Amino acid sequence: MSKRYTITAALPYTNGPIHIGHLAGVYVPADIYSRYLRLLGNDVAFICGSDEHGVPITIKAKKEGVTPQDIVDKYHAIIKKSFEDFGISLDNYSRTSAKIHHDTASEFFLELYNKNEFVEEVSEQLYDEEANQFLADRFVVGTCPKCGYEEAYGDQCENCGTSHNATDLINPKSAITGNAPTLKETKHWFLPLNKHEAFLKEWILKGHKKDWKPNVYGQVKSWIDDGLRPRAVTRDLDWGIPVPVEGGEGKVLYVWFDAPIGYISATKEWAAREGKNWEDYWKDENTKLVHFIGKDNIVFHCIIFPSMLKAEGSYILPENVPANEFLNLEGQKLSTSKNWAVWLPEYLEDFPNQQDVLRYALTANAPETKDNDFTWKDFQARNNNELVAIFGNFINRVVVLTNKYYDGIVPNPSEYAAIDEETLAALKAYPAVISSSIERYRFREASQELMNLARLGNKYLADEEPWKTIKTDEARTKTVMFVALQIASALAVLAEPFLPFTSTKLKSILCHSNLEAQSTWEDVSTKDILLPAEHKIGKAELLFSKIEDSEIQKQLEKLEASKKANEAAKKTVEPQKEEITFDDFSKLDIRVGTILEAEKMPKTKKLLVLKVDTGIDTRTIVSGIAESFSPEDVIGKRITVLVNLSPRALRGVESQGMILMTEDEGGNLVFVNPDKDEVQNGLRIS
Ligand SMILES: [Zn+2]
Repeated sequence: MSKRYTITAALPYTNGPIHIGHLAGVYVPADIYSRYLRLLGNDVAFICGSDEHGVPITIKAKKEGVTPQDIVDKYHAIIKKSFEDFGISLDNYSRTSAKIHHDTASEFFLELYNKNEFVEEVSEQLYDEEANQFLADRFVVGTCPKCGYEEAYGDQCENCGTSHNATDLINPKSAITGNAPTLKETKHWFLPLNKHEAFLKEWILKGHKKDWKPNVYGQVKSWIDDGLRPRAVTRDLDWGIPVPVEGGEGKVLYVWFDAPIGYISATKEWAAREGKNWEDYWKDENTKLVHFIGKDNIVFHCIIFPSMLKAEGSYILPENVPANEFLNLEGQKLSTSKNWAVWLPEYLEDFPNQQDVLRYALTANAPETKDNDFTWKDFQARNNNELVAIFGNFINRVVVLTNKYYDGIVPNPSEYAAIDEETLAALKAYPAVISSSIERYRFREASQELMNLARLGNKYLADEEPWKTIKTDEARTKTVMFVALQIASALAVLAEPFLPFTSTKLKSILCHSNLEAQSTWEDVSTKDILLPAEHKIGKAELLFSKIEDSEIQKQLEKLEASKKANEAAKKTVEPQKEEITFDDFSKLDIRVGTILEAEKMPKTKKLLVLKVDTGIDTRTIVSGIAESFSPEDVIGKRITVLVNLSPRALRGVESQGMILMTEDEGGNLVFVNPDKDEVQNGLRIS
């Protein structure tokens, strides 16, 4: 029975192009799901758009000396094209700078305002005196109150995923001037999440314990268990949607308030174009709403947006939010600023017409349950060993032999042998198997089942050897080729969600368009014949081609070049400091020592608490080396230590001295120590 679905994919942020991490985490799974639902005859609105507000865009515009609109226009066009290029079958790709979105978001805000769903509050917010500006979101960086990560943003910590208010940061610094901010009073509107706590507990913690992914459920539960607090939904900024109420002058809606409403406005835009009623897709209890996102957006889609929808009152809530974990590249975190990424436009230049290879490699290795690693070697292996050697090889043999033996005309089978019956029965089981994986958002598993169907075909041909029986048993050969052609035809249908370009090409080779009716997903399990005898197919064309080592080497060299460029950028030698006298120098008391004990400072990422034998005494030194060394690495280490530095407290532990360190090429910390082991602790360095 067909249903109505609203499928949303996270709005990409328009301050750069998109890379494989975005594709693997959000857009390919959302596309597989949407294509699959359409194949089953469902009514699907697959919705996305550019997220064009927020602080990073204004920072980038300032840096490049252009307007924020220039930035978003540029990247909106690039991102839109990437989605089209990779077959992301969106029904609408809108943008949050569109008028329809400004109107929709304003109305939404007003609706909540008029219902008294906001708390209006004058509070002290971080302010940069020099830049003359309030600091929110990415305008401010400081230590995360939850995990101690020292570069957390004002609205969210990228390390632990916690979302917080800017004033919660420890040691905040302005991202504009680097100054420590002051506090200044300003009025804002807050969404009292605490008020929705009971509803969220009932709806998610009770209602979705079984069907939401454990990573999503776990994150949500931990936030709710920590207790929810009011969140400001407005900002003192000039780029965004103006706050449409009295006192809102000079303020805009918080980007995370307006962005998810973008799903609604993009649906409105699409519905108007298609002559549909948008409310069917957002306000009808029978519509199933699913948000595809990355794990960094869980709080916004599972707590804040549902609270907004609930407060408004007339909207449906998401039935599932299948967030993915992160994809790494060759063992390192994807990074736009470090150019550690595979950008989609660049991929297509290097691998023209091979979108499906990337789609497949990313799906087969999708970060569904944990962070996963994309490596070029794996990409090559997925292509050469699976797409070429299994899928492509099977199809090629079927099409070539059909042309060779029967001039491309599907032969009439005679009576089936047991192996034929078994193979056709196995074929009919595949739609249900793949469906079951897709419907549980296990796209990786689903893609492997599709490949298993190609394996079934390959094995069938290898066992039945029509190239041998053609000389001895004409009837048997016809039957085998007929069965193999049914499998090929099924692959053309079932591959569509995963490999849309290949599916189209294969359908064209098999001349599906000349069939009386196009096969649906269900036909594969219910119909005995997908490709009837006497149907004429076309000539063979290669679906996939082997990727050579040299092509992979080229990609690895590109990454190596990025790595080198990052290091070079880091390694500029600092100019010599101001001259000092010998007396100045002799004030420094530097000694040889040994680290005796080491442990991590709780709740910090960088700090180790060390017990050091300085020859004079054993003392405590707190050192910021924990990202380079574990405690076990440094115990017993010979060091040089500045012993007469006045003690200072770090996180409540008094540090009595400083260990001398430098950095290697890769930016890793290195101890500066005597080059002979026998040097005694306590000896002075002069
Ligand atoms: Zn954190």
